[in-house]
Amino acid sequence: MIILGIETSCDETGIAVYDTERGTLAQQLFSQIDIHRQYGGVVPELASRDHINRTIPLIDTCLQTAGISLSALDAVAYTAGPGLLGALLCGSAVAQSLAFSLSIPSIAIHHMEGHLLTPLLDNPSPPALPFLALLVSGGHTMMVLVNAIGDYDILGTTLDDAVGEAFDKTAKLMGLPYPGGPELAALADTGDSTRYQLPRPMTQRAGLDFSFSGLKTQVRLLIEQAPPSAHPDIAAAFQAAVIDTLTIKCRRALKQTNAKDLVIAGGVGANRALRQQIEAYCQSNQVRLHIPPQNLCTDNGLMIAHAGAMRLAEANKDYRIDCQARWPLTALKPCPPSCS
Ligand code: ATP
Ligand code: MG
Ligand code: FE
Repeated sequence: MIILGIETSCDETGIAVYDTERGTLAQQLFSQIDIHRQYGGVVPELASRDHINRTIPLIDTCLQTAGISLSALDAVAYTAGPGLLGALLCGSAVAQSLAFSLSIPSIAIHHMEGHLLTPLLDNPSPPALPFLALLVSGGHTMMVLVNAIGDYDILGTTLDDAVGEAFDKTAKLMGLPYPGGPELAALADTGDSTRYQLPRPMTQRAGLDFSFSGLKTQVRLLIEQAPPSAHPDIAAAFQAAVIDTLTIKCRRALKQTNAKDLVIAGGVGANRALRQQIEAYCQSNQVRLHIPPQNLCTDNGLMIAHAGAMRLAEANKDYRIDCQARWPLTALKPCPPSCS
């Protein structure tokens, strides 16, 4: 089965063609960074307008790269939420119109399930159920117990900022351009993480919840007191505090659940230092780590096409344009066993 994936939940137009037999056939990504940079963050209306312009040309390019025509498609998967409503509507309108005109079914995909399932893509030894997933992105921070595909228990979540959001806001405090996360990470890699001591929030008390807004405030105080030349060291201290906190919570969740497989997904999963530290922990504790390549941690169309392949049983010809800006992961239905 050949599935077209369409991702437009935020500021990236991601398109991909995935074949359940042959794997990835093509993918295209257009990032709107240059559009939003001058505003210091995503402007929803501008995001929607650009998705409208990009989606169809990127689909054409993907089909050309894959060497197939529209008639070869068996289904269209699209991000139906959570995300910016206007942006979601652009992708879903194209997806439903295309599916309708081709008389093929469409599949509504949950963006965070797209992220979560990415480490299962082209993985010769996929995680064994039940497994643990740390989802760390621009809008979410969750520790999830995956009982089955679609059957999720949220063991912990952030009480305030998401990790990616904390990276972005902290970067902004240092005057780094949007999107600050990768810029801050690059600066941190040049600094000394031991010069400033920052707390590892929520690690002293029991449980798997997170909080990152206090850390951001601590960094603001440091920035106000220190000269700009100290920014690399402050960035390094911030990054170390975040990574230690995430590592401590993963260790706790692995012990609590007895899971032997850990998935990390979402944009912050692209962070090099985080990958190294978690990998080292997993290696010395006989935990199998599954983490996508960096380009598939951040938003992309392939994760949506792939999730669509896993949820083919839900493909339908209702053609309803029904997106949800907010959509809890726990509202999803488990996939029938045949889906994976
Ligand atoms: P969500 O998936 O929660 O809806 P999103 O789709 O906007 O949010 P992603 O595309 O998954 O988020 O990830 C983007 C986030 O990841 C941004 O906050 C960005 O700063 C962060 N990020 C990307 N690369 C890195 C990195 N190397 N280090 C730290 N953070 C990073
Ligand atoms: Mg983005
Ligand atoms: Fe995302």
